[in-house]
Amino acid sequence: MTVAEQAGRLRDTVLEFESVDGLPLNLIHVQGDDTPTKGPVVLVHGAGVRANIFRAPVETNLVDYLVANGYDVWLENWRASIDFPQNQWTLDKAALYDHPVAVKRIVEETGAESIKAVIHCQGSTSFMVSAVAGLLPQVSTIVSNAVSLHPVIPRLSTIKLNFLLRCFGWLYPYMDPRWGLNAPTIPAKLLALVVKLSHHECDNNVCKFSSFVYGIGFPTLWRHENLNEATHEWVNQEFGAVPRTFFDQITKSVGKGKLVPIDSLDGLPSEFVPPSPGTDARFAFIAGVLNRCFSKESQELTFEYFNSHRPNYHTLRLIPDYGHLDIFMGQNAVNDTFPIILEELDRAV
Ligand SMILES: [Zn+2]
Repeated sequence: MTVAEQAGRLRDTVLEFESVDGLPLNLIHVQGDDTPTKGPVVLVHGAGVRANIFRAPVETNLVDYLVANGYDVWLENWRASIDFPQNQWTLDKAALYDHPVAVKRIVEETGAESIKAVIHCQGSTSFMVSAVAGLLPQVSTIVSNAVSLHPVIPRLSTIKLNFLLRCFGWLYPYMDPRWGLNAPTIPAKLLALVVKLSHHECDNNVCKFSSFVYGIGFPTLWRHENLNEATHEWVNQEFGAVPRTFFDQITKSVGKGKLVPIDSLDGLPSEFVPPSPGTDARFAFIAGVLNRCFSKESQELTFEYFNSHRPNYHTLRLIPDYGHLDIFMGQNAVNDTFPIILEELDRAV
């Protein structure tokens, strides 16, 4: 049976779990016909999307690919997921309240001694905070895409973010790329007008709005060349609201050159990038060289941090011709990026 045929036979089981502070979240367990030959791997989505972001309408998406290669695949819908009601989430809350519970649940369900993880964007930053705080001792290998402990964004993005937050932040407790389709309020309509006047790179209003919300690219989150038509259309249903708390925290973090807390929660260290990381996990840092949302320097810096503590153990993989989310959604990702992710997951620790 081909991978595509196997993909048609995958079964999803949704396991509800509650975050430490009482939010109802879930894990999606994806199983094929065959018993997995390798251990569990959890996939953690980014901001303003949901676990389904790893399942773009391409012939073989990352979930199909990992199941076909023997992994027991779990998708975590954490508090930033658009499947849940809007909330002012922060990296602090996700790191302390969501990821440790999700990982514990997978370990309990599978009986595995350790699990692996593929983490993306703000799923990556928040999961990394948990890991270096010593809250994820069961995770042995972590493949991180785009950004982890040291967010770096293009200079023009920094200027734009600071300006918008300072001048208009009060108007926007949330921003939502779906305003490109339907802007429900006057502030939303205003922003939709700005996007309409400034973005002419394609005919998809959610694609263009996401480019405006997440940076300064045309587009920001992928290269159009890397997406098939169905995926470019599919993003309409996969993007949703992202709260101002996220923009506040990431702007502050970019200014400091590393992730910083904004909630001061008991149970998390006062420094998100401590002098030495509280984890023995092996990390593989992946970055699309053409990422216009977070620059590849983000991953280079975090790799250097880990490499200085344990040289020649972690890896940094820079992928030419790819940007931010096309690493997972690209029509040729099955040939270009998935083998890199698999190689890093398979590597013995
Ligand atoms: Zn587009």
